[in-house]
Amino acid sequence: MNISQKQQYQIWESNEEIQAFREYLRIPSVHPDVDYDECVHFLRRQATSLDLEAEVVEVNPAKPVVIISWVGTDPSAPSIILNSHMDVVPVYAEMWSHPPFAAHMDEEGRIYGRGSQDMKCVGIQFLAVIRTLKREGVKLRRTLHVTFVPDEETGGELGMRDFVRTERFKKLNCGFAIDEGYATEEEVFRLFYGERAIRRANFYISGTPGHGSLLLSGTAGEKARKLLDRMMDYRAMEEKKLENNPELSIGDVTMLNLTMCAGGVQCNVVPPEIMLCFDIRVSNDISIKQFDALLEKWCNESGGGIRIEFAVQNPVTEVTRLDDSNQFWVALKGALDKMNLEVRPRINPGATDIRFLRELGIPAVGFSPMNRTPVLLHDHDEYLHAETFLKGIDIYKEIVVAIANV
Ligand code: ZN
Repeated sequence: MNISQKQQYQIWESNEEIQAFREYLRIPSVHPDVDYDECVHFLRRQATSLDLEAEVVEVNPAKPVVIISWVGTDPSAPSIILNSHMDVVPVYAEMWSHPPFAAHMDEEGRIYGRGSQDMKCVGIQFLAVIRTLKREGVKLRRTLHVTFVPDEETGGELGMRDFVRTERFKKLNCGFAIDEGYATEEEVFRLFYGERAIRRANFYISGTPGHGSLLLSGTAGEKARKLLDRMMDYRAMEEKKLENNPELSIGDVTMLNLTMCAGGVQCNVVPPEIMLCFDIRVSNDISIKQFDALLEKWCNESGGGIRIEFAVQNPVTEVTRLDDSNQFWVALKGALDKMNLEVRPRINPGATDIRFLRELGIPAVGFSPMNRTPVLLHDHDEYLHAETFLKGIDIYKEIVVAIANV
């Protein structure tokens, strides 16, 4: 390590936002059975340091939602929600180069930790924006609500989904929201304006049972094969669509994956039922009604007697419009242009808490300012570079000033 590198390291190490980020990373808010107490205490301290209050709403027992609000000069104007989730996914600690909850920063400035990309960085960056603006004496027109929610990684049902149904959420009077995106190795940032509808479907296929030596007709196995053919043919068609059009990304096509099979008791007994489970993500180019009808049709074509049970069946949500009709987008795009930053709008291939806001008709984008960064969410050795983290604060700052003054 030469002198300048050493000095650089010390600058990062003593930076208060990096310190807060690393402190947050050291809280093991990891599934399963996350204990959020430490997160809540930490966020209360953060709020105090900003001369703000942290409000804790317990929508479900032991599932706190923390709201840190900075009231704008026009409190009646629809507010801006800056959302992040407090929970992180489990780790295989033995696969990590550095302990996943130590927030180790290496000589180059990479900060290792579960949640460093997904998405403790974002929560701290939002708070850092407020700290910077307050110090500069800047006042924004709209109120900012920095929200920290639980259990996003297990579907958000006990967190954001139930929170948006409360009176407290309604009172936030949200006009626009920003939530998580992904890192990208490229220079051009990713920005998500929609998500695919999720279908987690169990197909219970009934058929003629009997002895394994007989040639029975209408067995569950035969029906399962026919159904599989239809599902997989559709999958292949979508794969082709993606291959043939470089403009498309994975979020633009429908994906079907066979994820579980069950049934039967013994090899020479033809079972009365077989279960196939599919994880399905329906793209926006087909109506969800049409797609559900297609599933029904395939079940009938496969011989009938097939019952579909949805473990998850998300409603359709309108994508957020990225055009002149959306004043927040115009402001956000203007801020990006001012910084000479390019974003590539996409449909998110995954699902995040933002869908619960979009379901209410609130325009919202998923955007984490992490470019030139390997995509390591849910992976071993998840890290974020100190420089990327700090640059992210500047980027969010421009954006927040623009959208909060719309
Ligand atoms: Zn996340």
